[in-house]
Formats: sequence, C-alpha cells, structure tokens
Amino acid sequence: MDFSDVVRFHGHACPGLALGFRAAQAALGALGRKRSADEELVAIVENNSCAVDAIQVMLGCTFGKGNLIFRDYGKQVYTVLQRPSAEAVRLAVIWEAPPERPEEKAAWEKYAAGSRDPDIVRVVHARKGAKVQAVLAADEEALFRISSMMVALPEPARIYPSLRCGRCGEKVMAPRAREREGQVLCIPCAEESS
Ligand SMILES: [Zn+2]
Ligand SMILES: [Zn+2]
Repeated sequence: MDFSDVVRFHGHACPGLALGFRAAQAALGALGRKRSADEELVAIVENNSCAVDAIQVMLGCTFGKGNLIFRDYGKQVYTVLQRPSAEAVRLAVIWEAPPERPEEKAAWEKYAAGSRDPDIVRVVHARKGAKVQAVLAADEEALFRISSMMVALPEPARIYPSLRCGRCGEKVMAPRAREREGQVLCIPCAEESS
C-alpha cells in the first residue's frame, strides 16, 4: 500500500489524507516489530476527517469490521492497538503547515468565499499540493507526538438479535430498540413519537 492507493480510495490527494497516511505508517512502524500474523489491529480515531480514509486503507481497520472506533472529540489523534496483546501507539498530530504567503492567504479567502476564478483556484491547489508534499516528506517527529501504552481492549464486534419496530415494521438490533408505552420501536420512530 502506498499513497496512491490511499488517494484512489479517498478520491483526491489532500493534506489531511497525507497526515492519515503518515500516521498509519508510523503506527505500523511502532507496532510492527512485535506484530505477529494472528494479531489484529484496532484503530481509535478522534475525528472523521479525510485522514481516517487513509487509516482504513493502510491498516485494514474499517467501520464494517468493527475495528475502527470513532470517538467524536474533534482531535487529530489516532490510537492503534493490537489484539490480543493490547499494546498501543498513540499519535497526536503536532505538525504545523508552513506559513502562508500573503498571495496564498488572499487567494484562499476568495476561494472560501466562493470564487472559482482560474487564477485563484490555481494558487489554492498549488498551496494544497505543497502541503501534501511537505507532510509526505516530513520527519515522523515533526508530524506526531508518539507515545506507547497499553489500552483496555474494546469489546469485539458482537451479533445481536433483531426485533421488529412496532411502528415502521423494520428490523432493529435489540440493544438499539426503545420501548415507548409498551411498544418496541426503532430510534427514528421513538424520536418521532416523543
Ligand atoms: Zn480529502
Ligand atoms: Zn421504526
């Protein structure tokens, strides 16, 4: 897996994706030495930005497999742990983009306000491309504060029975069902009826 695989999955190259790519590489580097074939990685991500797509591709930690855990803290922090040892590495992004030149700042402000003038777009894209390259070329220590730890393991994915919602008739997994006046309801129906 290299950066082009990640870009193909995500749909474009951007600085956030590059940071996620480097975070995944750093996590593999930190854990990899001890990693054995039957160990599984779990990623705990504290944002749902572009970076997380790189984490999914590089680490095989996906929403569907249950080994991608989203904590909505709005932080650029990625913790990767391996089962069953519970060894983990935490990566906190510390990278600062090189300061914008005045013309870049002016172009960005116009772009953010909706301008798609070709000259403006060119400057914005060039700045973005330069940031991607800077992230890809940076030393790991300039990108992340890296710490090793042991993390309590999240519960492995479980399979629950389905119940049928008394209002819309659609199936809902038991722990997400709500009871309203003796009726079993799915969350959208329960919220509508309250
Ligand atoms: Zn992106
Ligand atoms: Zn329902």
